[in-house]
Amino acid sequence: MTDPDCIFCKIVAGEIPQEGVYQDDLVTAFRDIHPVAPTHILIVPNEHLASTNDLTRNHEKLAARMLSVVPKLARHEGIEQSGYRLIMNSGPDGKQEVIHMHLHLIGGQAMRHPIG
Ligand code: 5GP
Ligand code: ZN
Repeated sequence: MTDPDCIFCKIVAGEIPQEGVYQDDLVTAFRDIHPVAPTHILIVPNEHLASTNDLTRNHEKLAARMLSVVPKLARHEGIEQSGYRLIMNSGPDGKQEVIHMHLHLIGGQAMRHPIG
């Protein structure tokens, strides 16, 4: 299911060209438009889920895929050994701005984050 007003649904559908990073049958990964570090990739479900609150047991394959693509992307970015952070914001207190669930993959120096 897609939401015609959702920016990330449009990116998944290829309606807004991105510097392509990765896409498969379940997830799409692309670069954050305002990177906070040399590597800042967003991994999103191809289907529109607003946030982690929308996850059910039916999404176990999707949820696993969102994580299992991480080492492939990290290797491609050359940050597998140097390290990275995975962040998923949810809701107003979680500072979620785009209401299509997404996992931030953030690596390299100059990283800013409130935790640590
Ligand atoms: P959130 O605060 O919701 O976890 O993060 C949303 C992220 O999406 C932000 O880091 C923001 O820079 C990024 N973003 C917002 N709109 C766009 C867009 O149109 N294209 C891309 N590539 N990233 C976006
Ligand atoms: Zn969406």
